[in-house]
Amino acid sequence: MTVQGSSTTPAPVIRKKITGHVGFSNIPNQVRRKSVKNGFQLTAMVVGESGLGKSTLINTLFNSTICVPRVPLHPAEERPTTVAIENIQADIEEKGIRLRLTVVDTPGFGDFVNNSASWDPILQTIEQRFEAYLAQEHSVRRSKIVDTRVHACIYFIQPTGHSLKQIDIEFMRRLHDKVNLIPVIAKADTMTEDEIADAKALITSDLAFHGIRIFQPPIYDDDDAESIAEAEALARAAPFAVVGAARAVRTPDGRAVRGRAYPWGVVEVDNPAHCDFGLLRAMLVRTHMEALRARTADVLYETWRTQRLLAMGVVQDPSVFEETSPVERMREERLMHEARLAKMEAAMKEVFREKIEIQEKKLKQSEVDLYARHKEMKDAMTKQWNQLKEKQRQLESGSPDARKKTFLS
Ligand code: GDP
Repeated sequence: MTVQGSSTTPAPVIRKKITGHVGFSNIPNQVRRKSVKNGFQLTAMVVGESGLGKSTLINTLFNSTICVPRVPLHPAEERPTTVAIENIQADIEEKGIRLRLTVVDTPGFGDFVNNSASWDPILQTIEQRFEAYLAQEHSVRRSKIVDTRVHACIYFIQPTGHSLKQIDIEFMRRLHDKVNLIPVIAKADTMTEDEIADAKALITSDLAFHGIRIFQPPIYDDDDAESIAEAEALARAAPFAVVGAARAVRTPDGRAVRGRAYPWGVVEVDNPAHCDFGLLRAMLVRTHMEALRARTADVLYETWRTQRLLAMGVVQDPSVFEETSPVERMREERLMHEARLAKMEAAMKEVFREKIEIQEKKLKQSEVDLYARHKEMKDAMTKQWNQLKEKQRQLESGSPDARKKTFLS
């Protein structure tokens, strides 16, 4: 496994092999064959208030220490005031197949007194990644496109058993058409079975009321019965009630499992009777990794791209999901190039205008200075002139002694 921790800029890569089992090497055959050669690539974002178990869940999902849990801040320490964006990259190898995983962490989300702009940096990073992809599509070396688009966003909901909070609704409403949203009920081991069922029903109706679309496993006409059943089970279980625990514990009957030990027993994260963790993991890394990537590319990105190009005056073919023709792509490229040139020209004009303004100000100032100096000199010379005149008068009118005194003064 390779872990790369950084803010938004890529950091050096430290390589480390993973030993645990993740499950992506068991991906369905026809999808797998395509990806075996190049390896899989998944970018998952995690969003939710601090302490909801995001780091633990990511580490449990990928069976490794990918996210190092944060040390809680001392009360005297200064609190951050904005949501940060952190990328952690991990190369996981399983049965000779490589998964390049990027986790986009968003520490600080929902932790402020006023959370009204918590979603802005998250939305920005998703759109910047679309923008980077679009720029590569329009560059000459299109065969070397690096896809950093976010394929899934796991959104952590507090296990309160109540309806969604305002911040949950506001976040998901703004993001649902930009990223595959996967809401999860965090720390589900703190709720009873009935409470989980009620919370799921409440959240589902809240989502429907606010028109929020979460990721639904697609069902295709040629899907076999097993795939259809799988997709339906996943849809029924959403939002997944998850439990994270990266460490192994012993069950009363002596089995070593990943779970959380309580005085009354062990909650096993991989046991479908205890929580939905297994469903989430299967969907992310086994059954629907390709569907997540495909929806990101064909629906979310294409919709964004169409809107972006429309805003620049590019009218696309209505069949936006089809591959754009080379002629159309060249036209887009030309229009984008022209738009970029126009932007550069406007920026240059602005710089030029500012420079002229500064020069004009300087000229005006030196004019004022010159006038003041000129007046000062004129006054001094007038004064001197008057003094000489006075001396001359005294010389002409006085006695020889007075003249001598005046001459020597
Ligand atoms: P983050 O701030 O969202 O990344 O949260 P962490 O993963 O650091 O977890 C915060 C605390 O919650 C730690 O003490 C974890 O052991 C605990 N925790 C994580 N997942 C669960 C869970 O599913 N159930 C319970 N009860 N505690 C959890």
